[in-house]
Amino acid sequence: MTTSEITVIGAGIIGISSALALQSCGHAVTVLDREGVGAGASSGNAGAFAFTDIVPLATPGIMREAPKWLLDPSGPLSVPPAYALKIAPWMLRFWRASWRDRYARSMAAQSSLMALSRAALERQVKGVDGEALMQREGQLQLYEGEAEFRASLPTWQLREAHGIRFELLQSPEAIAEIQPGLDRRFTHAGFTPDWLNTCDPAAWLRHLADRFVALGGRIEQAEVTALAQEGARVRLTTGSGARAADRVVVAAGAWSHHLARTLGDRLPLETERGYNTTLPAGAFDLRTHLTFGGHGFVVSRINGGVRVGGAVELGGLRLPPNYKRARVLLDKAAEFLPGLKTSGGTRWMGFRPSMPDSLPVIGAAPRADRVIYAFGHGHLGLTQAAGTAELVRDLVRRGIPEINPAPFAPTRF
Ligand SMILES: Cc1cc2nc3c(=O)[nH]c(=O)nc-3n(C[C@H](O)[C@H](O)[C@H](O)COP(=O)(O)OP(=O)(O)OC[C@H]3O[C@@H](n4cnc5c(N)ncnc54)[C@H](O)[C@@H]3O)c2cc1C
Repeated sequence: MTTSEITVIGAGIIGISSALALQSCGHAVTVLDREGVGAGASSGNAGAFAFTDIVPLATPGIMREAPKWLLDPSGPLSVPPAYALKIAPWMLRFWRASWRDRYARSMAAQSSLMALSRAALERQVKGVDGEALMQREGQLQLYEGEAEFRASLPTWQLREAHGIRFELLQSPEAIAEIQPGLDRRFTHAGFTPDWLNTCDPAAWLRHLADRFVALGGRIEQAEVTALAQEGARVRLTTGSGARAADRVVVAAGAWSHHLARTLGDRLPLETERGYNTTLPAGAFDLRTHLTFGGHGFVVSRINGGVRVGGAVELGGLRLPPNYKRARVLLDKAAEFLPGLKTSGGTRWMGFRPSMPDSLPVIGAAPRADRVIYAFGHGHLGLTQAAGTAELVRDLVRRGIPEINPAPFAPTRF
C-alpha cells in the first residue's frame, strides 16, 4: 500500500474521526488545531447519533413558517439585526434547497450518508473499544396534540420509505411507559429505537483522540491561515511558519470556508449558533433522548445529568453569545418536565457549520485535488462523523466509496 503524510486541519469530531480512518490504512497523520481537541462544536453538543434524522431542514413550506418563528422572542429561530443582511444570500440558497425536487434529492443523499454512518459508527465503537461511552436508549419525538402529530405524519412516511424503524404513540400513558414525568400536553410521539447517544460528546472525542495518539498519530497546536497545492505537495501557512504535506483534509468546522477561500473556492458555509445548559446528575430521571421539535430543542442525558439545548441563531462567527436563548430553552424544559431541577447548570454556545441544503461538503477541492474538504455537517456532525471519515479515507485512497459521494461535492453550488 502506498502511504502518505497527511495533515488534518481541525481536532473536532470530523477531523479526529477522519484522522483515525486514514491512520488505519497506514498513513502518517498529523492533526493541527489552533486551540486543541474539542475546541469547537464537537465537545458541547447534545450527544445524539440521530440516524433517523434524514429530513433536511429546508423542507417545502419552511419559508412560510420562518417569519412566525422569528417574531416569537422565545421561538427556535433568531437572526440578530446586525447579521440580517449578511445571512441573506445563504437564506436565498436555503429557500432554493426547499424546492420539492431539491429537497427529495437532499433527503436521498442524507439517507445514504446516515446508513453508512450508522454502520461506520459500529465499526468505530468496536475499533476503539468505546461501548462504555454509548447509551442505546432510542429517542422520543414529542407532539403537543393531535394536529401537530397529524402534520408530522408525512415525515414518518418518508422515514418508513427509507427503512427507518419507529413506533407511533397516541396517548400520554403510552409515552409515559417510555419516559415518565412529561407534561400531559404531549399526547402523541414517535419513538425511534435505533437512535443512540454518547454519554458525553467531549469524552467520546477525547477517547478517539487518545486512541489516535496511542497508535502513533500527532496532534499539534497551530492555526492554519492558507493552503496552496504545489505539484504533489500541499503547502500550509500557519501562525508558526510553513509546513507541507502530501495531502490535507480541511475539517475546521464553521471556519472551513476561510481556508477554502485561500484555494479560490467560495463555499456557502454559515453558522447556526446553538445553545444549551447542562444540569448536574439528579436533575431528572431521563430514560431516553427527548426531542421537542415544535420548540426547536432537545433534552439528553450527559454524564448522568441533563443537557437542555438547541435553538438556531443565524448570527455569524463574531457576535458575542446571547445566553438568554439558553435560559428560554431551560424555562420551556421546566414547563414540559415538571420535575426538572434547573439549578446548578452550565451554559454553552456552539457554532454548527451549516450548508444551505443541510448536506455536508465531502470531496476534493475543485482546484487542488490533494486537499479534501470535510465540513458543513450542521446539526448532524457527531452523527455523520464516522461515515464521513470512511468517505474521506476512500477519497484519499481513490478507492470506490461505499456511497455515491457526488451529492456532497463542493462543486454542487
Ligand atoms: C447546541 C448544539 C447541539 C448539537 N447537537 C448535536 C447532536 O446531538 N448530534 C449531532 O450529530 N450533532 C450535533 N450538533 C452539531 C455538531 O456539534 C457539529 O456538526 C459538529 O461538532 C461539527 O464538527 P466539526 O469537527 O466539523 O467542527 P468543530 O467541532 O467545530 O471543530 C472544528 C475545529 O477546527 C479548529 N479550527 C478552526 N479553524 C482553524 C484553523 N484555521 N486552523 C486550525 N484549526 C482550526 C477549531 O479550533 C475546532 O477545534 C450540535 C451542535 C450544537 C451547536
